[in-house]
Amino acid sequence: MSEQRSHGFSTRAIHAGYDPDPATGAVNVPIYASSTFAQDGVGGMRGGFEYARTGNPTRKPLEANLAAIEAGTFGRAFSSGMAATDCLLRSVLRPGDHLVIPNDAYGGTFRLIDKVFTQWGIEYTPAPISDVDAVREAMRPTTKLVWVETPTNPLLNIGDIAALADVAHTGGAKIVVDNTFASPYLQQPLALGADVALHSTTKYLGGHSDVVGGALVTNDEELDTRFAFLQNGAGAVPGPFDAYLTMRGIKTLALRMERHSDNAEKIVELLDGHPAVAQVIYPGHEAHPDHAVASKQMRRFGGMVSLRLAGGKQAALDFCARTEIFTLAESLGGVESLIEHPGAMTHASTAGSLLEVPEDLVRLSVGIEDAADLVADIEQALEA
Ligand SMILES: *Cc1c(COP(=O)(O)O)cnc(C)c1O
Repeated sequence: MSEQRSHGFSTRAIHAGYDPDPATGAVNVPIYASSTFAQDGVGGMRGGFEYARTGNPTRKPLEANLAAIEAGTFGRAFSSGMAATDCLLRSVLRPGDHLVIPNDAYGGTFRLIDKVFTQWGIEYTPAPISDVDAVREAMRPTTKLVWVETPTNPLLNIGDIAALADVAHTGGAKIVVDNTFASPYLQQPLALGADVALHSTTKYLGGHSDVVGGALVTNDEELDTRFAFLQNGAGAVPGPFDAYLTMRGIKTLALRMERHSDNAEKIVELLDGHPAVAQVIYPGHEAHPDHAVASKQMRRFGGMVSLRLAGGKQAALDFCARTEIFTLAESLGGVESLIEHPGAMTHASTAGSLLEVPEDLVRLSVGIEDAADLVADIEQALEA
């Protein structure tokens, strides 16, 4: 394999997991649309593949690539971020076990734990992930997992990964970091002590809002063996075209994250002190309570910006209705800018729970269009 661990991020992103096909010279991974693979005699696999749920030659290079960009040893690809989440939870937790989750966790993560895993005897405690002492206090003798998201969705709180890894390990628990918002370009959880980095590759890794997928990366072989068992045993795998699209996206991840960060910084400048804005939330902003921790563990601060409107819920809904370039839609991390109202959209399932989000909150996924156009769009939508 031409790629090495010592290579820079983009060299790994572009080359890891695949060399030009020796048979044809194809520089891109072929989309192997085959569910099964011919054997030379019983058990005689030619390329290590027998059936495409277990493994297929388009998914395999993606998995090696995912491991390389997270600077981990083992990568596993799934059909969605939630499928990766489900695999992780079932690999680590048994009935009677307890986990700590961020009190503003991704809505789908919260819903899966709260509505499904509790039925199987799993208990959880939500804690503010930016407060290391609160996480320590939420731990029990039965705690087997500390779930970290940083930055969190949608409030962009920051968890100190190295400190939280200490707390988890001291308590005999594993720590997983949902690294979806930062991407491996901006933040490397395994190097900071996390046991597993989890992604919704639907977001920045895919990067073009054209594919749904998930990933788990770890250095822990025993954990990876459990992931592989469930990946095949439960079968939530990506198809070859999805794997191809995700790899295609990853090649430009570094360029895109730089541009997302540049554009977000310009939007934050506009929002900062704007009379219609009660609060701008961005980890790169000096006023962010955990700016110092974010600066320590992130290369830059990414494309997610949240804000609270001075005029309350109606002002937030009006703002969402008035942007022209920012499309009103759930999801994030694509080349195009998106706007959404978490309370009524992505986080509607948290209503009435501890994880409820403020109703004057709006979340922006700042894309990679021209910054001047994005700034002008936000400006007119705030002032209309
Ligand atoms: C989108 C998302 C997920 C879930 O991923 P899917 O690909 O939609 O299943 C999990 N965590 C975070 C932070 C996300 O943004």
